[in-house]
Amino acid sequence: MFDNLSERLESAFKQLKGEGRISEINVASTIKEIRRALVDADVNFKIAKEFTDKVKEKATGEKVITAVSPGQLMVKIVKDELAELMGGTESEINLNNKPTIILIAGLQGSGKTTFSGKLANFLKSKKGRNPLLVAADIYRPAAIDQLKVLGEQIKVPVYSEPENKDAVAIAQNAIAEAKKNGNGVVIIDTAGRLAIDEVMMTEVANVKAAVQPHEILFVVDSMTGQDAVNTAKAFNDRLNFTGVVLTKLDGDTRGGAALSIRYTVDKPIKFVSMGEKLDTLDVFYPERMAQRILGMGDITTLVERAQAQFDEAQAKKLEKKIRNNKFDFEDFKEQLGQIKKMGNIKDLLAMIPGVGKAIKDIDISDDAFKGIEAIINSMTPYERQNPDVIDPNRRRRIAKGCGKDISDVNAFMKQFEQMRQMMGQMGKMRGMMPGMGMGM
Ligand code: GDP
Repeated sequence: MFDNLSERLESAFKQLKGEGRISEINVASTIKEIRRALVDADVNFKIAKEFTDKVKEKATGEKVITAVSPGQLMVKIVKDELAELMGGTESEINLNNKPTIILIAGLQGSGKTTFSGKLANFLKSKKGRNPLLVAADIYRPAAIDQLKVLGEQIKVPVYSEPENKDAVAIAQNAIAEAKKNGNGVVIIDTAGRLAIDEVMMTEVANVKAAVQPHEILFVVDSMTGQDAVNTAKAFNDRLNFTGVVLTKLDGDTRGGAALSIRYTVDKPIKFVSMGEKLDTLDVFYPERMAQRILGMGDITTLVERAQAQFDEAQAKKLEKKIRNNKFDFEDFKEQLGQIKKMGNIKDLLAMIPGVGKAIKDIDISDDAFKGIEAIINSMTPYERQNPDVIDPNRRRRIAKGCGKDISDVNAFMKQFEQMRQMMGQMGKMRGMMPGMGMGM
């Protein structure tokens, strides 16, 4: 996610190296480079300019204390401003009504139906609610079936009326059903079109007028860049929605949508969706996202996902091991099983500071896991606990044991070592820049 933007910003910060104080002159090229990086990430020029003007104002004349380089100081200023641009603090979903009615709107293919399933799962498993999903897409029978399949997976009831062509009536009937059955939340998945059209807009607006939802969430594919922002504007003008959901952040997103939407429509991003698995919905935290963009990882989210999968004591142990650079192959193997349940592995590893960049070009799929597991299984317990003792002799034996090429073992060892180094750097970074925090 945002790989290119992260790299460009990093190189912009490097230009500031060695200066004792940030001045208007030495900051100029860095500011220019940050602006270019934002524009190339599909951030509207006006927003990018306003952003860098603010950064410049904050940075100029800032005294650089000895423990922190000017580059690092700029990182902090940019991180704060990025978080501010994305809304500053998180915005919680309003669940105070009985039942709470949530309308989901967006273009076809944006990820509406998938998100509806994820939200229902989130509300059920994390918030202890008993939601009802409503299939109000009257044009695509397949959309009803899709929602039903999702509902079955997460054991959430799905309300549909396949023969009814009146979305307003379906929504109203569903709410009556929810009241009867005691469902505390009603999630209405509406029809989408490939492009904004009047019929769709009128229909969603009619459903809104009829059911008076407490939340209207606009779902948008973050891969669509500036189009995402324009679509958001059109939907907001018509629906005055309460929040944005950014989907497909696990893909090769440049970042423009995440960075510009809040500014453009003045509505908070409430959730981000990263992947097709139903348990990978994340509440949107601007600060954490800013950290990720700047290659600082997102240990907080990683730990939260870990906590959701296993008990707290175990999660704390993992967090401590990562922080103390004591992560060994035993842990690695133990976590592999757990991690696989937590979502896309590459996405998870990218939450560890510095690791995202290191593993950018490495193919880490679930299949890659099998090879890794075979290599670790081929190690002795002693080797697993002491990765440093694994010399070329041992590597050859390990390779033989798991039927892999020595180069595979070497490559894996190298990746593991890089990962540990990155983890170690994170510890140092925390020490040096206490004000920046890692969200923990
Ligand atoms: P809808 O037409 O808006 O209801 O969109 P769907 O929920 O059917 O999603 C369209 C496609 O995007 C499907 O193939 C989904 O599996 C996929 N999708 C949805 N959300 C995500 C996500 O966060 N990441 C990725 N990679 N794919 C997603």
